[in-house]
Amino acid sequence: MNSADIKTVKSILSQPQKIAIIPHRNPDGDAMGSCLALYGFLKAKGHTVKVVAPNDYPKFLKWMPWNNTVINFERENPKAKATINEATLIFTLDFNDLSRVGQMESALQEATADFIMIDHHQQPGDYAKVTYSDVTMSSTCEMVYNFIDFLEETSLIDADIATNLYTGILTDTGSFKYRSTSSKTHRVVAELIDKGANNMEIHQNVFDTNSPSRLHLLGVALSNMVILPEYKTAYITLSQDELDQYDFKKGDTEGFVNYGLTLEGIIFALIFIENREEGIIKISLRSVGDFSVNEFAREHFSGGGHTNAAGGRSEVSMDETISKFNEILKTYKSKLNP
Ligand code: 5GP
Ligand code: MN
Repeated sequence: MNSADIKTVKSILSQPQKIAIIPHRNPDGDAMGSCLALYGFLKAKGHTVKVVAPNDYPKFLKWMPWNNTVINFERENPKAKATINEATLIFTLDFNDLSRVGQMESALQEATADFIMIDHHQQPGDYAKVTYSDVTMSSTCEMVYNFIDFLEETSLIDADIATNLYTGILTDTGSFKYRSTSSKTHRVVAELIDKGANNMEIHQNVFDTNSPSRLHLLGVALSNMVILPEYKTAYITLSQDELDQYDFKKGDTEGFVNYGLTLEGIIFALIFIENREEGIIKISLRSVGDFSVNEFAREHFSGGGHTNAAGGRSEVSMDETISKFNEILKTYKSKLNP
């Protein structure tokens, strides 16, 4: 954020505001962590604050401080709309384009409040009065820490704010292993532990609360994996029937896509998950190195994200999606074998 933006934000926040904070649809640890941390910070500064999520989020995040205050736009529509309408300031966190909130997009477009965007995805839109966008950042949570630091108010970070920020950095960096994890990320994390984030407990809450059926579903996913060494690619499919058989709950497939990348020599991994209710195949894409899954998802599967982690969708059947993918892959042989 440049000094003019910092001045603007300081001046806006010097008056009590009615603030709505918005994560992207299907919020992940970074989206919820950044929103809930900012919630705690702005509350501590005396503002009226609500987090409005476009839809539900996984159970493995439902222990996070203040998560029980979140308004779900899908489930509590009138309350969510009123919060957005009445807001004098709206923060959008962890997404780059208003279309990433799904059904909530029109409510945001009709809102009269100024927007502040904090985000690390590529190709940021320009709907906000203040845009703090940095694609080199590990996570939006690291950026929220910086944001509070720009305002010279890190003394307001308590254990609950620190816990939320730590959680988002943890999940978005793949437990501090992705390329975007910098020495600065580790310094911020160290600071958060000093401020009361219990790192061991957070790891356990996020990763060690599996249900037996989720692990069985992982078994199915791994046995469905197709490995294409000539393309350095591995992909997994999960049909709706398989999800149903193992009592699928939101968040159960989180992280499955990464198993492809644990294979020696594989640099491109995908998972295709059927969602019969939405009539789509949801795709998660991951890579290591310079192969851009953001570009791949944008170009072929109406999606996007980051260089090494992106999402997309397909509106034809699983079989047709896989055939299409295999055809497309042929044109990427040289990019995958640089
Ligand atoms: P995931 O595969 O975990 O759902 O998402 C990986 C990354 O890509 C996340 O940063 C997420 O925000 C982004 N992403 C996921 N789905 C989409 C999509 O449909 N469009 C865009 N632009 N980004 C996505
Ligand atoms: Mn993120």
